[in-house]
Amino acid sequence: MLVCKVTVALWALLLQCSADKDPLAHLSVGERIERVNSNTVYGVDEPELIEGDIAVSDDSEKNADPCTSRGCMWPKSANGRVYIPYVIANQYTDRERQIIERGLDSFSSVTCIRFIPRSNERDYISIESLSGCYSKIGRTGYAQTLSLARSGCVYYDTVQHELLHALGFNHEQTRSDRDSYIRVAWENIIEGKEHNFNKKATLNQDTSYDYNSVMQYHKTAFSKNGLPTMIPIPDPNVPFGTATEMNNNDISRVNRLYQCCE
Ligand SMILES: [Zn+2]
Repeated sequence: MLVCKVTVALWALLLQCSADKDPLAHLSVGERIERVNSNTVYGVDEPELIEGDIAVSDDSEKNADPCTSRGCMWPKSANGRVYIPYVIANQYTDRERQIIERGLDSFSSVTCIRFIPRSNERDYISIESLSGCYSKIGRTGYAQTLSLARSGCVYYDTVQHELLHALGFNHEQTRSDRDSYIRVAWENIIEGKEHNFNKKATLNQDTSYDYNSVMQYHKTAFSKNGLPTMIPIPDPNVPFGTATEMNNNDISRVNRLYQCCE
C-alpha cells in the first residue's frame, strides 16, 4: 500500500513538474489555441482560418453553419454508432500520440461517436502536425486535415476542441443566440479581427449557452488592449472560458446532434 502511495505521489510530482516546465499547460483551451495560432506562420498550402482555428475553403462557409446548410454530419451505422475513421501522422512522439488517442477515445464512453483507425474508408480525419491548431467544421468528404501542431496543440482539451469542430460544432461565442448571454465588446477587439465574432446560424440543440463549454473562447480573445471582448450577461463576473475538457453540455450536444440515444 505504501509503495502505491509513494508511486502515486511521485507520478503526481512528475506531472506537476512537466506542467511547470510547460508555460502553455495552465492556459484555458481558447487562450492556448489563440496564442499558438497567432504566433504561427502558415504555409501557402494551408487553409484560411477564421475565429482562430476554423479552416474554411471559401467565403460561403464563413457565416453559415455548414451542418444546417449542407449536411456535414458523419453517417450513422445500423447499430446506432457513428464510426469516424482517422489516421495520425507519424510526426508525433509516443507520448503525444497517447494524448491524441486519449482525446479520440474520450468520446466513446459518453457518446455514440467511435473514432476508429482508418482502413480504406473514403472519408476520414487526417491528424497532422501542421501550422497551429485547426479543423474544418463537420465532415468535408475525403481526407480532411485536422492540424495539431506538436508545439502547442497536443493537449487533451485541444484535441477534444478540434474534434468537436470536425463533428460539426462551432464556437460558443458565435451561437445564433449569443447576444442574450454575452455582450461582444467590439471596442476592445483588434481592428480587422471583428469577423471572428460574426454570429452563425448554429443548431443549438435546445441546450443553453454555456460559458464553460470547451468551445467557448476566453474573455479576452482577440483583445487589442487586454480588456474583455466578451462580457457575460447579466453577471459579468461568472466564470467564463475556463474549460479544461468537454463538459456535460458539450457531450449532450454531440448526443443530440447525432441522436445517440435513439
Ligand atoms: Zn475552435
